[in-house]
Amino acid sequence: MDLSNCKSCGRLMLQSKKYCEKCQNEKDEVYRSVRTFLSNHPGSTLLDVHRELGIAISELLEYVREFSAMPMGGYQTKQSDRKA
Ligand SMILES: [Zn+2]
Repeated sequence: MDLSNCKSCGRLMLQSKKYCEKCQNEKDEVYRSVRTFLSNHPGSTLLDVHRELGIAISELLEYVREFSAMPMGGYQTKQSDRKA
C-alpha cells in the first residue's frame, strides 16, 4: 500500500499522489484562473500573474512546467538573450 503525505497540507493519503483531493482541487482552481488570465492577457509574465491574481511566486513556479508558454519575466530562460 502506498502512503504519502500531501505536499501542501501534509495530510496522509492512501495513494502516492502529490496532493490530497482537497488541495488538488484548490490547485486545479488556481490553474484554471491562471489559464483564464493568460488567455485574456496574452504575453503576461509570471510577475503579472502574481500581481493580478495574488498567487505566490513559489506556487506559480510549480505551474511553470505546465504553462510552458507563459513568459516568466526573468524566471525562465531569457529569450532576449540570443546573440545578434
Ligand atoms: Zn492537502
